[in-house]
Amino acid sequence: MQQQRSQQLFERAQRFIPGGVNSPVRSFRAVEGTPPFIARGNGARVWDVDGNEYIDYLGSWGPLALGHAHPVIVDAVQRAAADGTSFGAPVEQEVQLAEMICQALPSVDMVRLVNSGTEACMSALRLARAFTGRSKIVKFAGNYHGHADGLLVQAGSGALTHGVPTSAGVPESYAAETLVAAYNELESVQILFDAWPSDIAAVIVEPVAGNMGVVPPADGFLDGLRRITESHGALLIFDEVITGFRVAYGGAQTLYGIAPDITTMGKIIGGGLPVGAYGGRADIMQMVAPLGPMYQAGTLSGNPLAVAAGVATLTEMQRPGVYDQLEATAVRLTEGIAHAFATAEMPSTINRVASMFTGFFNPGPITSLAQVEQSDAAIYGRYFHAMLERGVYIAPSQFEAGFVSIAHTASDIDRTIAAVGEALSSLE
Ligand code: PLP
Repeated sequence: MQQQRSQQLFERAQRFIPGGVNSPVRSFRAVEGTPPFIARGNGARVWDVDGNEYIDYLGSWGPLALGHAHPVIVDAVQRAAADGTSFGAPVEQEVQLAEMICQALPSVDMVRLVNSGTEACMSALRLARAFTGRSKIVKFAGNYHGHADGLLVQAGSGALTHGVPTSAGVPESYAAETLVAAYNELESVQILFDAWPSDIAAVIVEPVAGNMGVVPPADGFLDGLRRITESHGALLIFDEVITGFRVAYGGAQTLYGIAPDITTMGKIIGGGLPVGAYGGRADIMQMVAPLGPMYQAGTLSGNPLAVAAGVATLTEMQRPGVYDQLEATAVRLTEGIAHAFATAEMPSTINRVASMFTGFFNPGPITSLAQVEQSDAAIYGRYFHAMLERGVYIAPSQFEAGFVSIAHTASDIDRTIAAVGEALSSLE
């Protein structure tokens, strides 16, 4: 694989940007090597600066359910840009995006748009604390909710991959306000509520874990969280930054039929531009300034380009058959991969919920972070490179989700499955 130009860019990047990347998940440190610098994308494919072509399963880490450079999104962004990029005053399309979100998510009466999932989760916690007058929050080890201080405690995603699940720079006194439970283990949550029955403002959870690899919620887990939080006067926050408009148009809360008090969103609602959002019950959202005493603001929040991309994306996602197609594509892919692993007699588990999936080098089943961590990272690194050489771009870490889009065709999937078979043979 020709990588000369990417290597030159990576050398330059490392001089000026820590690790040469603007987000650690893009780094190849865990799997070694030079990340290809991407020149362009179209549909399910991306091309790097050396002209290598890849079938892409990163999908920008989730936002691109319609694939790269979808003509409707490109057109919406270009038209918005021609009318001005930012005003710091309200525009019509932010109202449209807010309405679409509230109509889609049964538990969300009002929503505030921000610029990232991090901002959404950070603000949701402040809101929960303001509403309840309590200070502690419960999160789950291996879940990732962005890089706000109190949430970088036993976090997943790049924080887990790069060995810093609890970040330096978070004051101990602040980290002490974050209580950590075990995903899919209700008892671990009950123990925390028994110890601090009236101090916990909220439980924040990825309703489908995606940032320790995909781990679906066990039967009764989300129901149990709803019950425990309600009985203690704490709020339940679903972090639907990945799952919102991904696992169903109405997110995981629709798929599993649970109404959280607050929902955080990002990724798909920005169609590949920087957007986040937090929303919930009207009585809670009325705490947010200028209505109430919880302050949160943003120079570029509700940015016209970003909301134009979001409205266009959600409009496309409402077309009949989109979610069936995403599901069918992901089923074809994961069944094919599972078959290739079985043929190669490689112990593995493929977890999938709707169009998000992870293949673990681990016989499974995988329902907890402890089981995820028993997966073979060394083989994953070799497999990752063998796939990249065969023109398939998957996450450079096992602790991540893969995503299919409506742009992935049956022939893309079949090529991918063939590449998996060849990659596994090359490891022997
Ligand atoms: N929450 C979840 C579930 C995420 O997966 C992420 C990012 O991957 C975030 C929050 C943070 O979002 P952002 O990277 O937009 O700040």
